[in-house]
Amino acid sequence: MENSRIIKNILKEYDKAQQIAYKKKQERKEEVYEAIPRLREIDNELANVSLEITKSLLNKNNDYERKKLINSLKNKNYNLQNEKKHLYENSGIPEDYIENIYNCNKCKDTGYINNEKCDCFKQKIINEYYDLSGIKEVLQEENFDHFNFEYFSEERDNENKISPKENIKYIYKFCKQFTKEFQNKNRSILFYGHSGRGKTFLCNCIAKELLDQSIPVLYTTASNLFQTVENFRFNRDKFEDLCEKIEMFYSINLLIIDDLGTEGINSISQAELFNIINLRLIKKLPTIISTNLSLEDLQNTYSNRILSRIAGEYTILYFFGNDIRAKKKYTKTLF
Ligand SMILES: [Zn+2]
Repeated sequence: MENSRIIKNILKEYDKAQQIAYKKKQERKEEVYEAIPRLREIDNELANVSLEITKSLLNKNNDYERKKLINSLKNKNYNLQNEKKHLYENSGIPEDYIENIYNCNKCKDTGYINNEKCDCFKQKIINEYYDLSGIKEVLQEENFDHFNFEYFSEERDNENKISPKENIKYIYKFCKQFTKEFQNKNRSILFYGHSGRGKTFLCNCIAKELLDQSIPVLYTTASNLFQTVENFRFNRDKFEDLCEKIEMFYSINLLIIDDLGTEGINSISQAELFNIINLRLIKKLPTIISTNLSLEDLQNTYSNRILSRIAGEYTILYFFGNDIRAKKKYTKTLF
């Protein structure tokens, strides 16, 4: 799904860029004609020749006559082009001076090449999605390339049978796979475990990977989500902004709800959270929820119907081990 408002805005930008380019082109043309008057004549003649070629293709001469005519026109065209080239060479003005006016010379600021989106268009969409995601700055540091397993202990504990490092390696692999298969499989994930075990970091890794594939992602903390819902109900200011945001909770390709805890819970936020989780499942739109609560606390805090939807449909991943933020504090390498 592409966000139509974003696409519309980008197309408007292209329109503006084309108008600017057109003006610039006229100015440069005049500038060049002023310096080399013969060029104006050549351009006029070239325009005539191409008109003649089109005409001759349509006229009723016999084949032989037509070919002869077209050949002579092509010859004329060739000679004019040659003369033009020499004039440019002698003047020292670059040959593409008039044409080299676009932000993107590949698509001439139209955004399209043969009905396909140009790379510059795709990049603009990615940039817009980054802005929209709410975590643009963080993603420069927090991504799969910067993930450091060294912060995780290799010591196995009795309770979990595997070490935190083995566990995080498994989760890391799972998350990478999740981004690769995102378009085909629509899995939702619950990350749970104490804070400082890398949950938010991995949310960000996933977000960046998808944004770079121009897939829209929205990150929100749970308390921010609840606040938005509450503002929407009770505060009519900025109504349209809130509407759009809530609409995105329901329709964005990937929604990340970070830090689901005990804050801001009331019957309204519970109901809205259930609706978001439920509708996204029905629409096959993945959601990632991360929480510091244990599954038991989650069950005690949230309604049963929320829990049963998550337990039934989400992949549940448990983060354990030491608080890596403490380790991070004493080392200079990136986590
Ligand atoms: Zn382009």
